[in-house]
Amino acid sequence: MDRIYDVIIIGAGPAGLSAGLYAARAKMDTLILEKDKTGGQIAGTEEVANYPGSIKDATGPLLVARMVEQCEQFGAVRQKATVTAVELLGDVKVVHTDKGLLKTKSVILSMGAKPRLLGIPGERSLTGKGVSYCATCDAEFFTDLEVYVFGGGDTALEEGMFIAKFAKSVTIVHRRDTFRAAKSIIEKAQKHPKINFLLNSGAKEILGDGMVQGVVIENYLTGEITTKMADDEDGLMGIFVFVGYLPETELVKEKLTCDAMGYIITDENMATEIPGVFAAGDIRAKSLRQVVTATADGAIAAVQAEKYIESDH
Ligand code: NAP
Repeated sequence: MDRIYDVIIIGAGPAGLSAGLYAARAKMDTLILEKDKTGGQIAGTEEVANYPGSIKDATGPLLVARMVEQCEQFGAVRQKATVTAVELLGDVKVVHTDKGLLKTKSVILSMGAKPRLLGIPGERSLTGKGVSYCATCDAEFFTDLEVYVFGGGDTALEEGMFIAKFAKSVTIVHRRDTFRAAKSIIEKAQKHPKINFLLNSGAKEILGDGMVQGVVIENYLTGEITTKMADDEDGLMGIFVFVGYLPETELVKEKLTCDAMGYIITDENMATEIPGVFAAGDIRAKSLRQVVTATADGAIAAVQAEKYIESDH
């Protein structure tokens, strides 16, 4: 007979891992599906200073490793698989993956969000060749080189400061003259000796033959176009893009109601409009996207999934 899980959790970031912990602890037959790397965006974050209880040693990867250990302790099973389609209606939901078909009584969608691209010439072709979306992963490659960081939110400024530990200099380029980032983070970045700012500006094109060698920047106030090339001695430079995130809703956006930005709308119990289908973490329409809110979402979704499968619906 086909195995029918109590809950399949799609996505293994903090929301999915927290849902896995709560579901497994409640003795639900729990499967967590993860596409590539465990941990979601936080796995690529160096410092996690605002998750309660995580103090100095709390890097993103360490926090993820602890979350994984904890949810496996209670019996949640993780499987690497790419979900290709979902059938969400009815009492038994079907999850199609590249490893085969899975059945479940409830689903928690915790696929998170992916980096938004600048969408300019040179960006895609030079990704991994000097263009990066992850400071923890790549900052060290730019030791003693010039780096340009695009974006004006918390991520751009925080990651800019992390990159500055390695780079010769970091120029943060933002399209407006006021930052979206928190005041405390702005003040810290402004005091940083290796960080410069270029405001009311944005990139038009990334240049390079095989590796990034320059970037064309437009000043939106004056219309002036400047080409910044790597120092002759260096030959190379780095570009980091932190201009926000887009929800990973490709699988479900035609099946569930999403807000204008594409995030899944749920009620306060993380329930979507389809019975037995919940959404948790960054994929959900909400006011604050942080590890602390993702883990809370995951816990609520798991508890509600348990209530759902124990009810007559
Ligand atoms: P964000 O807050 O959405 O900021 C995105 C930044 O990119 C904004 O400054 C935006 O400019 C700019 N931008 C957007 N589209 C652009 C484009 N096409 N070209 C150029 N610039 C563009 O994203 P985030 O900084 O990644 O943060 C995401 C969430 O995580 C936020 O809720 C943030 O508070 C949270 N976060 C928190 C921490 C922390 O608390 N320590 C750390 C990291 C992230 P405008 O300002 O002009 O819109």
